[in-house]
Amino acid sequence: MFPTDPISNLAALIRCPSVTPAEGGALTALAAMLEPLGFKIDRVVAKEAGTPDIDNLYARIGGDGPHLMFAGHTDVVPVGDEAAWSHPPFSAEIADGEMYGRGAVDMKGGIACFVAAVARHVEKHGPPQGSISFLITGDEEGPAINGTVKLLEWAAAKGEHWDACLVGEPTNPDQLGDMIKIGRRGSLSGRITVNGVQGHAAYPHLADNPVRGILQLTQALMDPPFDGGTENFQPSNLEVTTIDVGNAAVNVIPARASAAFNIRFNDSWTAESLKAEIVARLDRAAAEGALRPGRAPVQYDIAWSERPSHVFLTRNNALIDSLSAAVEAVTGRQPQLSTTGGTSDARFIKDYCPVVEFGLVGKTMHMVDERVALADLETLTGIYETFIARWFGHAAA
Ligand SMILES: [Zn+2]
Repeated sequence: MFPTDPISNLAALIRCPSVTPAEGGALTALAAMLEPLGFKIDRVVAKEAGTPDIDNLYARIGGDGPHLMFAGHTDVVPVGDEAAWSHPPFSAEIADGEMYGRGAVDMKGGIACFVAAVARHVEKHGPPQGSISFLITGDEEGPAINGTVKLLEWAAAKGEHWDACLVGEPTNPDQLGDMIKIGRRGSLSGRITVNGVQGHAAYPHLADNPVRGILQLTQALMDPPFDGGTENFQPSNLEVTTIDVGNAAVNVIPARASAAFNIRFNDSWTAESLKAEIVARLDRAAAEGALRPGRAPVQYDIAWSERPSHVFLTRNNALIDSLSAAVEAVTGRQPQLSTTGGTSDARFIKDYCPVVEFGLVGKTMHMVDERVALADLETLTGIYETFIARWFGHAAA
């Protein structure tokens, strides 16, 4: 039987406790849905020293012609306080028209709907005029090392290439049809450490207080703004996320102070140009020494977090127009094309093909009582099915 019902698809997925890094049976359940449709399924286990092995899945149906990829993840975040849930988090219980469960919206729901949409398409029209593939990882909510990155490399190495990708993460803030994501801001983090000289608070001339230096440097990071935003992006924004001195004594000047920061940046920067700007700001502030009259420049070190996320913007009319038109046809609402929010695995896929994101309403993701309206599952399936038909129509034209 074809898996045309998103509600039963989702129930089967929610009942698999696939908290990262556990597969929990979720990929096996997904494979069982895709096999009857004629998908060729590969299970790919990715390994790396120091990280848990991760189960991933790649499935493809069809042959030559345009190739559409659907990407997502079956892993979920922990349930938190299980006793606080109104319905057990892996039960898929339905109450008042909503299905409860961890992953209901982020993002087993999106997968359940895309499976149903493909099943309906194949039922009506037979195999696609080209190919449809599922690239599903079990490592999106974790370190994301053995997930999408390695699965893409594995598939590309065996000759797979794609013309477009839809990521089914929850993108709508309030209701279905609000928002399609057509890009994402970049993200860069670092930590600065100011080294001073420890001493007695009553004899500051014998010491060098690093708290003065760290205040000056963090101030220079936060002000002035990095830019005023661009056509498709919000202004870049830096937040100092912690300042650490760890000094328990009020009469001791500490030896060291450090601070961490994260910046979400738009397409007027690259990670490299932004690092240069940050270092220039820190050097200027270190030399100024307004809080340190008569002192030498602040001595500081900076350590960058290992992997910045790069900013990207998708410009592909066949993909964006097909999806927008599908959303409008089914919901009567014109979705906003947005680049807001955090990073997602789209940042890896963009190196292989144009990518956009559209999924469920994200309100309850990662929360206790994560849940999805059954009506939304049907609507999203309709949107995905319409999108598939339009995209292949567009790509074949
Ligand atoms: Zn997600």
